[in-house]
Amino acid sequence: MDRRIIGIETEYGIAHSHPGSRSITPEEVARYLFKPVVEWGRSSNVFLTNGARLYLDVGSHPEYATSECDDLLGLISQDLAGESVMRSLIERGEALMHEDGIQGSIYLFKNNSDSAGNSFGCHENYMIPRKLEFSRLSELMIPFLVTRQLICGAGKVNLAGDNCGFHFSQRADHVWEGVSSATTRSRPIINTRDEPHADAERFRRMHVIVGDSNMSQTTQLLKVGATDLVLRLIESGAILGDLKLENPIRSIREISRDLTGRQEVRLASGRSMSALEIQRFFLQHVTAFVEKNGAHHAHVSRVLELWERALDAIETQNLGLIEKDIDWAIKKRLTDAYMAKNSLELSSPRVAQIDLTYHDISLERGLFHVLERRGAATTVVTPESVEEAVTVAPQTTRAKIRGEFIKAAREHGRDVTADWLHLKVNDAQGATVLLKDPFVTEDAAATELINAIRGV
Ligand code: ATP
Ligand code: MG
Ligand code: MG
Repeated sequence: MDRRIIGIETEYGIAHSHPGSRSITPEEVARYLFKPVVEWGRSSNVFLTNGARLYLDVGSHPEYATSECDDLLGLISQDLAGESVMRSLIERGEALMHEDGIQGSIYLFKNNSDSAGNSFGCHENYMIPRKLEFSRLSELMIPFLVTRQLICGAGKVNLAGDNCGFHFSQRADHVWEGVSSATTRSRPIINTRDEPHADAERFRRMHVIVGDSNMSQTTQLLKVGATDLVLRLIESGAILGDLKLENPIRSIREISRDLTGRQEVRLASGRSMSALEIQRFFLQHVTAFVEKNGAHHAHVSRVLELWERALDAIETQNLGLIEKDIDWAIKKRLTDAYMAKNSLELSSPRVAQIDLTYHDISLERGLFHVLERRGAATTVVTPESVEEAVTVAPQTTRAKIRGEFIKAAREHGRDVTADWLHLKVNDAQGATVLLKDPFVTEDAAATELINAIRGV
């Protein structure tokens, strides 16, 4: 498979500030956010004209799942479009809340943990061929994913438990299993629930639960780009040696706590390796693979360069090498400067507040966005492509068809249902259209359905 379908799901943290006003629960805030969505979509679980899914599951974390993308920059634009959609929801939700006499502001955070110790996720979805042996895949993938936080962690001022400090990852402390079919109760690294959202005879979906949500576009590029490359290496049947970890869950926590990357983790074979060595191992194999087989997309060299630079930065402790590119390093620079300027310890609540505000999606308040505007964070996509992704689906996957369907339905006020595989008009007798191949961009039955909605 040369092109791969990839999608990212992001759950957002929610808060309401209420100076002089009664405070409302996150559930109530979420209801205000989704009121306009329910009005036009008749549900708090809808698909948008860009092919994405916007929904409110149990609890109060609004979620945005990008449409199926087959291009890295397109994926980053679609994910950032999700932030933009959430900002629009905030604007409308706040207005409705104020009309009801509840003052204050609504906050959404693209992070993975709240002050009460709850965690919420950012899932990555990679389509893989069915014929790939899943147990071999996960055996090789887990050591990569456990150590991947070095190159793409969001950074965390972690004051819980022993070994407080600035850590690589937000999610590391909230992962409880290697592979499992549950996402919430036992929270695995890879979810094995076999739901491919595609022709199950040909495809499978690797559902990665372990990642942090990223603010930085370059970190996002590296996270997904490197994971896709490692997958390609595994798919090629390469013999990679045995890196099986003795205890992935203990390792992921230990690695998160050691910014030198030198923490040794025990392999099942009895050997020990450091997180840096494991990442170097994958980088070397992937580099050799690309030299032999060529780059399969235009950004491979940028991914490899970023990957190597991130590992060099950790090895030499010269974080200046990645201070504009990798979330945890961008955030560390910010918190270090703030602590120095205000003579604060890491344990100060004001430092924790900086960590949180880094993830605020507001363009005015959010510290990551402020840094980006000042040129202190490198970008990968243009604001125009993000703007376009808010309404337009990727044109090279079935998301294009879904997007056209939703657009027609909204323009003509029709009651429809969609999911990743199906399109249906509820108020008509017509059959449900099934799109089993995520790479299709034209489908006769879907065109007929869309034309019928448009009355052409
Ligand atoms: P949960 O929310 O419980 O994790 P889920 O993973 O099935 O369930 P969604 O939130 O609906 O849930 O997100 C699915 C993601 O998978 C989307 O980002 C979508 O683009 C992506 N996706 C859709 N089809 C495929 C496919 N065939 N292969 C890989 N990813 C896919
Ligand atoms: Mg989801
Ligand atoms: Mg998911």
